[in-house]
Amino acid sequence: MNLPGTGILKGLGVTLKHFIVTYTEDFKYIGKKAGVEPRPLRRSNPSNHGIVTVQYPDEHLPVPENFRYIPFLVRDSATGEDRCTSCGICAKVCPPQCIWIVRTEDPVTHRPVPAPKEFYIDTTVCMNCGFCAEFCPFDAIKMDHKYEITSEHNRSQELLFDKDRLTMPDTYHASIHPLDWARELQEKAAEEAKKKAAAEAKAAADARKAAASAASKPASATAGGAKPAPPAAGGAKSPAGQQSAPNVPSKPPAQPPPAAKPPAQQAPPPATSPQDPPKPSAGS
Ligand code: SF4
Ligand code: SF4
Repeated sequence: MNLPGTGILKGLGVTLKHFIVTYTEDFKYIGKKAGVEPRPLRRSNPSNHGIVTVQYPDEHLPVPENFRYIPFLVRDSATGEDRCTSCGICAKVCPPQCIWIVRTEDPVTHRPVPAPKEFYIDTTVCMNCGFCAEFCPFDAIKMDHKYEITSEHNRSQELLFDKDRLTMPDTYHASIHPLDWARELQEKAAEEAKKKAAAEAKAAADARKAAASAASKPASATAGGAKPAPPAAGGAKSPAGQQSAPNVPSKPPAQPPPAAKPPAQQAPPPATSPQDPPKPSAGS
């Protein structure tokens, strides 16, 4: 039989043990810096002993890679250009419709240019679903890890994020989404390899085509120009030594000579007129 109050004392003992263990855990890591997880991580570890409280906001628990808060636009560091083409897909798929995009226009032709002139996200409406990042065909919008966006000053303006505030370099994206970044690099490399293979295949096909047309040129010249050699009399022999069909004589068989024309009737010598006196010879 337990004495009254022993349960309470036991519970208090457990609390006291956790309190002491919390600090002895921290003492274990004093002076050891390399390879030691930061305190908030150790505190949140399920195998940790002691109090699990993290001293927020002085301490922050690290967030997983796929944690998502407000989206941001990615700018290519190599080219200095925005990845966004202002296609508007993200604005279409956004469930609470909190994205506004203004397209850039060519000042001369007034035709749309694939770049956003203005880009707004109303963060008071955004529900952090990540659809915009999922559907963007250009990997131009990603979900940020920053969740401390509230402010004491002029909240209405600060929570409507404009393009300048939304844009971040791709190095930032790589630092918070290392796996996603590696996937992007892999896909880019695969695409380039595919393009290179296609270009090589096209060049090889062109070369084959050129060679074939070059080979066919002399043959066509023979067919159109020089006459083939006359077949040997009695029929040419095929390469296999077999007698080929008797050659057709190059000349048609001689036609029977046309019947000789009857000699044309000679006109009778002009009759001397009896009245004409005979011509005197030169000597008489
Ligand atoms: S962020 Fe992506 S989906 Fe949205 S407009 Fe830009 S390119 Fe299109
Ligand atoms: S995270 Fe969701 S709600 Fe927020 S802007 Fe993107 S699509 Fe819209």
